[in-house]
Amino acid sequence: MLCAVVRGQCYIGKLALVLCLVASGLIPAATASAADRAESLQLLGREIAPGTTKKFPFIPDRSFEASYLNMPVFVARGVTPGPTLCLTAGVHGDELNGVEIVRRAFAKIDPQGLHGTLIALPTINAEGVRTGNRYLSDRRDLNRAFPGSSGGSVARLIAHAIFTKVLSHCDALLDFHTASNQRANLPQIRADFTDPAIRDLAIHFGLGIVVNGSGPDGSLRSESAKAGIPAIIYEAGEPFRFQEDEIERGVLGVENVMAYLDMTEMADQEIPAARIYERSRWIRTDRGNSGFFFPTARLGDMVDTGDLLGKIVDPLTDVSIEVVSPLAGEIIGMAVPQPVLSGYALFHLAWHDSD
Ligand SMILES: [Zn+2]
Repeated sequence: MLCAVVRGQCYIGKLALVLCLVASGLIPAATASAADRAESLQLLGREIAPGTTKKFPFIPDRSFEASYLNMPVFVARGVTPGPTLCLTAGVHGDELNGVEIVRRAFAKIDPQGLHGTLIALPTINAEGVRTGNRYLSDRRDLNRAFPGSSGGSVARLIAHAIFTKVLSHCDALLDFHTASNQRANLPQIRADFTDPAIRDLAIHFGLGIVVNGSGPDGSLRSESAKAGIPAIIYEAGEPFRFQEDEIERGVLGVENVMAYLDMTEMADQEIPAARIYERSRWIRTDRGNSGFFFPTARLGDMVDTGDLLGKIVDPLTDVSIEVVSPLAGEIIGMAVPQPVLSGYALFHLAWHDSD
């Protein structure tokens, strides 16, 4: 790729940046050399010089009131200009894989070889990460409070602060999640295919599968997209623990996206079309079939209509009900063995429109 265009601006690595900017008419040829070196970034009252990294608290105040915004902020400012990629994790405090993905991805950055800027918020719900709590201390889901407001609940205040003070700097956003409690997800990108910039961002994560969907209103991903910032989420694994394979894949995905945006020297990667799903649906416990759930199918299995996926045993009657797939597709998410009630989500299947 010669030139990455993000939010209407032209970005490219190394010396070719000048040619790109000149060709796009963003700067006149006579002043092109001035574009070779980035300026310092002003963020949250801090100055981050080109070629440096900084880690600091979102707000420096030491007060009880300030503690609800005590998340860490990591910034790497490249020597040369380029896009600003933002990484967020820990919006749900129990989802740890993303927290470690963001930490590792940032630790590998050499700002001297970076074009553009990487801004990372590895634990947005910092208190939740410390205490293993999916939600905020006011029991709200932060991932339904974006873009937030300057008044209202703590969730809305935090969302507003993040949106206005950090997200406003971002040209693209990668948000990291796992499945929710008692479930596991195959590594997957969720992206809104109706926006070509978002679809391209997802494909150039370079690994896993891609699932189409815009996400719920109030989520960081969907509200960022509405604000003109291409955003995707990487969902991998289970909550409450660190899973090495999912973490390493996530770090590689960040590196692939940075390559796609010409922020590094790496070759960019693409997820093949066969791994990009337009449709997905949860298979749920039939009404009246509550009991103990024992899956036999596994994440990543390709199943056909009528295939046996597991069983549900009623512990009072000892009646065993087979869970059968109502459609063909790939299992991209599933519940772990546990007691389940009617309507409980058991298997998440994805398939192609053409299937
Ligand atoms: Zn989540």
